[in-house]
Amino acid sequence: MSAKRIDGTAVAASVRETVAAAVSQLPGQPALAVVLVGEDPASQVYVRSKVRLTEEAGMVSVHHQLPASATQAEVEDLIARLNADPSIDGILLQLPLPKGLDEHSAIECIDPDKDVDGLTEVSAGRLTLGKPGLRPCTPTGCVILAKSAMGGDLSGKHVVVIGRSILVGKPAALLFLAENCTVTIAHSRTADLPAVCRTADILVPAVGRPNMVKAGWIKPGATIVDVGINRIPAPEKGEGKTRLVGDADFADCETVAAHITPVPGGVGPMTIACLLRNTVLAACARRGWAVPEGL
Ligand code: NAP
Repeated sequence: MSAKRIDGTAVAASVRETVAAAVSQLPGQPALAVVLVGEDPASQVYVRSKVRLTEEAGMVSVHHQLPASATQAEVEDLIARLNADPSIDGILLQLPLPKGLDEHSAIECIDPDKDVDGLTEVSAGRLTLGKPGLRPCTPTGCVILAKSAMGGDLSGKHVVVIGRSILVGKPAALLFLAENCTVTIAHSRTADLPAVCRTADILVPAVGRPNMVKAGWIKPGATIVDVGINRIPAPEKGEGKTRLVGDADFADCETVAAHITPVPGGVGPMTIACLLRNTVLAACARRGWAVPEGL
């Protein structure tokens, strides 16, 4: 059997189209403020694409650039001003912050109602308690991808999430639980990880170890939503060249799974799409607008 590839690029484009259609029905334009501190080249690329896709979805994008020399107080003052600005619906603090700045403290300054990354303690608490709130983007993307492959109802499916980070593993587990899945969270101390994974209808590796998950770890017919993004040497492409792979060994696992996300082109593109969706949800909640159907 060869698994059906879950096309994250296409699913993300369809989420962005839904977001754009929703925006066009709103009484006003949602606005996303992106804060970039320093000149990290990878962060600059991410921010440029967030700005472009926000505007393409019909929303207002406000880009704030602070120098790498910015102090903690300057970063937090800017966030406080954006919290107080009624024209701003979502605040995204691009991570990582330059060395010497306290990311946790800066994130905690974001008004939870504008926390479109879903990273504040209040957002995490709302997720845990099952209360309305903004959910972290990458894990939300994992649920959408699983649904796109398996149909809208995931109830009763056994999900094994490998990884228990605050950014991905824990919120992914809670989001699948909210879909009435039975969830197991595995981690570096899990005994006989391959056997645990073989019980999964949906396997979500979120570890950061290239090609760790092998075909023998997969229940025949399972769905694999691979969060891992790992850069490995690719001498076949030329000296010093690299390529991206996931935590699942794609060529091996696709012989057993029914559905699998590729890396790149799987979970990655979903993160920004879910950020845009969160911006609309934040705007609706804050401004008292009805959430357009389909979002
Ligand atoms: P992280 O904070 O380093 O967490 C990794 C988790 O994997 C930890 O919980 C760790 O367990 C577990 N782990 C490590 N070695 C393991 C092993 N041998 N067996 C089982 N579990 C093991 O990483 P993260 O921020 O969650 O990111 C995970 C991966 O997702 C990375 O590749 C990252 O690049 C990628 N990512 C992708 C996106 C996207 O947009 N697609 C977004 C965010 C992250 P312990 O807790 O026991 O140490």
